[in-house]
Amino acid sequence: MLIVMKPSATARDIDAIVRLVEGIGLRAHPMPGATRTAIGITGNQGPIDGRRFENLPGVAEVIRVTKPYKLITLDLRPDKTVVRVGDATIGGSELAIIAGPCAIESREQAFVVAKVVQKSGVRFFRGCVWKPRTSPYTFQGLGAKAWEIMTAIRDEFGLKIVTEAVEESHVDLIEKYGDVIQIGARNMQNFSLLKRAGRSKLPVLLKRGMAATLEEWLLAAEYIMAEGNYNVILCERGVRTFAQHTRNTLDLASVPAIRRISHLPVIVDPSHGTGTAYMVTPLARSGVAVGADGLMIEVHNQPELALSDSAQALTISEYAQLIEEVRAIRNLIGSDAHGMSKPT
Ligand code: PEP
Ligand code: MN
Repeated sequence: MLIVMKPSATARDIDAIVRLVEGIGLRAHPMPGATRTAIGITGNQGPIDGRRFENLPGVAEVIRVTKPYKLITLDLRPDKTVVRVGDATIGGSELAIIAGPCAIESREQAFVVAKVVQKSGVRFFRGCVWKPRTSPYTFQGLGAKAWEIMTAIRDEFGLKIVTEAVEESHVDLIEKYGDVIQIGARNMQNFSLLKRAGRSKLPVLLKRGMAATLEEWLLAAEYIMAEGNYNVILCERGVRTFAQHTRNTLDLASVPAIRRISHLPVIVDPSHGTGTAYMVTPLARSGVAVGADGLMIEVHNQPELALSDSAQALTISEYAQLIEEVRAIRNLIGSDAHGMSKPT
C-alpha cells in the first residue's frame, strides 16, 4: 500500500501516519519528493484495508500496490533519486563515473591508476579488495592489505571508494573505510547480504545478476530498500546469452526500461558487459547516449599484467579518451530523467 500525502501535509501529519503504521506491526517508508511525500508500507503478508488511513490529516490518496514493487517505483517517488556520496552525486546533473582497476593488486598499481582517475575529474574510485572469482585457484584479492591502500588513496586523492562486499562481514569494513557498497552480479540474490546492506547508511551499488530478469533485479533492490536504505544505484553489467563475440550481452534497453518503472539511478558497466577492451569505449558511449546516470570503467596501468579481468582493462590513454568522449555525449543529451531530450 502507498499513502500519498497532500503537498500541504505537515511533518506532524507524516509522523502520525508512520506511528500508526508501526503500531500495527508494519514498516513505513516516507519518501519526500519535490511536491509531496508518499509513504510506502511493507511488512504486510496480504492486502491492508487502506480506508483507515484515507481520512487522516494530510492524506491525499491511498493506493493499493498491484505491482511486485513497492519502494523502487515512480508511484512512490515521481522524482529521480539523487544519491549523495559526500560532495559527489549519482543520479544528479553530473555524469557519475566510477573508475579504477578490477582489483587492488599493489600500492604502486593502485596509486598510479587513482592519480589518473583523479586527474580526469572523476569522483569515484573502484577496485576490489575481495575478488569473487569463478575459479578458486585465481587471484582472490589482497583483503586487509588492500584496505590500507584504499585508505591512503581516499586521503591523498579525495576519491570516493567503491568496493564489493562478497559477504556480510565485508559490509562492516566498507562502512569503516569505504564510501559505496558494491553488490556483485554473483550475489544479486544473496538475500542476507542484501538485507545487511539495507541496514547500512552507505549507498549500495547493485549489479544485475548474470541471468537476472529486470523484475528479479528490481526486487533485489527492494530487499535493500525494505530495510530502510533508499540509496540504491542499479548497475547494468550484461547478462549471459548465446552470443560468443562478447563476454556478456550488455542490455542497454534495461536503462529506459528502468526509467519507466523506477526513480533509482542506473549506471552502465561496459567493462564487465563486454569483457573486451576494444568494445568498452563504443558501449560506454552508447550507455551514456541511452540515458544512463553514469558508468563503471576498469582501467589499469599495465592491462596485460592485470591479475583479473586483464582483457577488458583500458590503458590509461584509452581511459582518458573515453572520459572526454562520454562527457561530450552527455553534454549533448543532457541529464533529464529519460536521457532523451536535449537540455533547454
Ligand atoms: C567487478 O565489478 O569487479 C565485478 C566482479 O563485477 P560483476 O559482479 O559485474 O561481475
Ligand atoms: Mn572486474
